[in-house]
Amino acid sequence: MKHSGALVLFSGGQDSTTCLAWALDRFEHVETVGFDYGQRHRVELDCRETLRNAMADLNPAWGARLGEDHTVELGAIAQVAQSALTQDVAIEMAEDGLPNTFVPGRNLIFLAFAAALAYRRGLKHIVGGMCETDFSGYPDCRDDTVKAMQVALNLGMNQRFVLETPLMWIDKAQTWRLAEALGGHALVELIKRETHTCYVGERGAPHAWGHGCGVCPACQLRADGFARYAAAKSG
Ligand code: ZN
Repeated sequence: MKHSGALVLFSGGQDSTTCLAWALDRFEHVETVGFDYGQRHRVELDCRETLRNAMADLNPAWGARLGEDHTVELGAIAQVAQSALTQDVAIEMAEDGLPNTFVPGRNLIFLAFAAALAYRRGLKHIVGGMCETDFSGYPDCRDDTVKAMQVALNLGMNQRFVLETPLMWIDKAQTWRLAEALGGHALVELIKRETHTCYVGERGAPHAWGHGCGVCPACQLRADGFARYAAAKSG
């Protein structure tokens, strides 16, 4: 096992792009994985290659460390999401501000597949953008969930994976600050321009904080975080 190697769960959104920069700053060899499960916002997955190339160009050291990209087809997730739509629990989740495509335990599924891939690739560190600070009700983003999953994966695969969650205890404004600390203004601009977080898959007109519909919970979180980041910079 290459102890300096990492696998980043990379969706092409703001959080996972910041996580990729964090990993490139820290590990000698970094690979990425994206999960294709028929999500409505395919635009996010389509951003991945653009972002990977741009980040390699941004910093030659990052370019040298950036290894293979993997895409894992998880079409079965869409089946579970659709059946959840017919049940009362999905409506309750929607009232909590979660999208009605919410898949229970989705991050557990992603981490299990990522670990199987990391096992095959000989990568010790698995990096994900889970965040408890503004986790929006997703219980599989909590620190305890990820720690429990690390124990389960290490027992079940007889490995010593380390699940890294650099965003776990920071908020959205601090995520922008972390991107700036890692890659300067150029990385902040790249994330603004090329990442996608909107639930409704809207690319839309550019806002100060990037593209999106501007009204869904994901856009509001991103807009609010960027406003606080920008205010702290100018204040
Ligand atoms: Zn939106």
